[in-house]
Amino acid sequence: MSQTQTLQLPKTQMLESQLPKGYTHHREFHSHSSIDLFCNCPQAYKARYIDPKLGIEHQVVENPTGPLPLGTLLHRCLELATQELWAGGHSGRVVKEAHLYYDMLNQAFAEDPSAGAAVLIEAQEILKHWLPTELVDAQSIRGLEWPFKLILEDLEGDVGIRGYIDRLEHRGDDTVRIVDYKSSRLLFTHDELRRSRQASIYELAVRDSTVLNVHPETPVDIEFVMLRHPGINQRTTRSPEQLNQAFTEIVGLVRKIESTREFRPQLNKNCAYCEVRHACPLWRQIVDQGLPQAQIDPMDVTAVAEEYERMNNAAKILYRRKEELGDVMRTHLIGQDHIQTRNHIYRLSKTTETEFLDPHRVIQIFAKAFKQPQARIMARIGAIRKGEYDTLMKALGGRLDLQELAKVKAEMKTLMVQNPAPKLQAYKASVPESRPAGKVKRERRTRSTRGQI
Ligand code: SF4
Repeated sequence: MSQTQTLQLPKTQMLESQLPKGYTHHREFHSHSSIDLFCNCPQAYKARYIDPKLGIEHQVVENPTGPLPLGTLLHRCLELATQELWAGGHSGRVVKEAHLYYDMLNQAFAEDPSAGAAVLIEAQEILKHWLPTELVDAQSIRGLEWPFKLILEDLEGDVGIRGYIDRLEHRGDDTVRIVDYKSSRLLFTHDELRRSRQASIYELAVRDSTVLNVHPETPVDIEFVMLRHPGINQRTTRSPEQLNQAFTEIVGLVRKIESTREFRPQLNKNCAYCEVRHACPLWRQIVDQGLPQAQIDPMDVTAVAEEYERMNNAAKILYRRKEELGDVMRTHLIGQDHIQTRNHIYRLSKTTETEFLDPHRVIQIFAKAFKQPQARIMARIGAIRKGEYDTLMKALGGRLDLQELAKVKAEMKTLMVQNPAPKLQAYKASVPESRPAGKVKRERRTRSTRGQI
């Protein structure tokens, strides 16, 4: 196979937006992720949930180092390890059981053919930092990967939602805790937490379960455990009004999904890893020609911001495509000194990264050789990584009382300088809490949730 053929995108049947005439789309059960997929990109939704029913098979693009295999691997590892600790009646911190988690990670890796070695290494690294913050109290656990089926019923009929809750607890203080593990790099903003459909669906399912029989007054906490940010659990709760609002929104979205006839591609932040991107006309167009320029008025800040967002998503696609091609080039360079094209010569650099195994000893040796105090050498070459600093400070929170902790923080503050480093940040826009009342008063009712303890 020639090099040119290897670098070309595979020939594949392109995605179609339209549903065939006479075809009606209906699913007995949707899920929070299928609804989210539709909201992000209707065409990706159709490719995953409708096309297989129409007998259209798409060639799925594997992402062995992408976010999906990493999340799947960590979820399975945590499920297996927590299952063992639950069965053994464990109570308290799990850091002494780290070997169990690493064994289970290997087992999960062996089970999942789509995960690459780089994902395993990344998962090990995440566990190493996160495990010291994890607690398991076997007595309060009610389910792991707790399955539910929720029926939302209004005057127009039923809407079915199903899913799995990573970990469900009913604590001694009569609080229900819903735990969901997240391996994403970004934390949720306050607004994203408040509007999380996943959180609302989980609480509706738990409150509706006849197996759990949760009293209406019992508080339900939803915690997103952020595995890449040790010790940070982003917590949210829902008021009855918010649950009502979520009910209406979910039913409305499912009805929209099922009545849509044209599923258009929609550029979004997940395009770079989309499993059907090679068959997507929009993705192809961006990769082949870049993003067509839009005429915008620089004084129209909304238009500028929207164009910035569009470019941001397109840049992710192009960057990811560059990485894919780089991987192919690296494979071609195995056993070769270089590859020469018309304009460039490519070779693998001999770059290495140096890591010091014993920084304390390095400082001692320098201090002795320069005949200077260690503190002076330390001031010259030592550096504190902010992430590590934050982790240690968080860990101190469990050891010191509030007064002692405040004293340590105040002392540390005298040793810090904060230099301005403004970055452009984007958050989801706030929307008002309440909506105007609809013409038809809907009666919220859920029924037939089946959970398993
Ligand atoms: S690449 Fe993006 S626009 Fe195309 S189908 Fe996938 S998610 Fe949708």
